[in-house]
Amino acid sequence: GDSIKIESQVNAQYIRPNRVIYDMQFASREEDLPGVLARSEGNPPLNIQGDPSVNLCYDNLRIAFNFLHEVFGRNSIDGRGGPLIGIVNFGFFFPNATWSISRANMQHVPVFGNGWDNDPWNQGAPLNTWAGMFGGFVGSLEVVVHEMMHGITQTHAQLQATEEPGALDEHLSDVFGIMAEQWQKKQTVEEADWLIGEDCLIPERKGFALRSFVNPGTAYEFDSDNLNFRGFAKDPQRAQWSEKYTASEDRYGVHINSGIPNKAFCLLAKKLGGYSWEKAGQIWYSALTSNEVRKDCTFRRWAMHTVDAARKDPGFGNPVADKVLEAWMEVGLKLRW
Ligand SMILES: [Zn+2]
Repeated sequence: GDSIKIESQVNAQYIRPNRVIYDMQFASREEDLPGVLARSEGNPPLNIQGDPSVNLCYDNLRIAFNFLHEVFGRNSIDGRGGPLIGIVNFGFFFPNATWSISRANMQHVPVFGNGWDNDPWNQGAPLNTWAGMFGGFVGSLEVVVHEMMHGITQTHAQLQATEEPGALDEHLSDVFGIMAEQWQKKQTVEEADWLIGEDCLIPERKGFALRSFVNPGTAYEFDSDNLNFRGFAKDPQRAQWSEKYTASEDRYGVHINSGIPNKAFCLLAKKLGGYSWEKAGQIWYSALTSNEVRKDCTFRRWAMHTVDAARKDPGFGNPVADKVLEAWMEVGLKLRW
């Protein structure tokens, strides 16, 4: 009756994150994880001269929490209000973000580095702004959500870390990262830039990003072979099944082949129009949380899960499922049941 309804409304108001931010203070040994406790839920902003990393992590985890809760009805990474842990200042200008197991508390936690302290496009000239040195990765909402999403994916599908299952893990993280950015900016699929981490490499260099959904393989290119990101001088992502990378770098291409499903998601989102998180994103979330995704899931099998998820949803049904099928065909995947 009415009293139950009122109670659930009250509870909804009290669903809130439980953030805990640690600071590695530039240490990079695994045994130093998680670092020192820097800020926990409800505590005021930290005042560290010139370094906004702790506060950026705290703020972005709140936006990430709200995105997951408001759009997908999800309460934190584990779906049960568990803690949102972030670790910042990992290593000395470690130009990356990662998802790691902390030995100290045996939890999977996002770990953020700070980006470069020099400009790879300008013969490594030192950057004289803090902007280039701090907050590059942890200040990027889509990167924060990308790392968090690895934990959510693992809750539902224990995908293997290499080859196609590993690339799907990267793909899911990119999809929810890019949607969080679009949601925060209230951008339609046509307004969005569909770039991951455009503030991460060197913020001053406009037009460079870590990955591109629209044209995988074109996000960045260094002008010297000695400079690289993850060992590549040029964005190595693939956009078509026929171009799939099969050599052993990057755990058999987990960040390279994720371009193929990324492109399919972008094509579908544009076919359906409006906001990515209202249509394509809901289909992807249903497919993942069906708990039917196996640890050795291939691109083909994942594609079939998404088509099935669209078909089963009364709000979408066959017309939308056909569009999902079309998007996968456009990146070269032929599906048969
Ligand atoms: Zn990742």
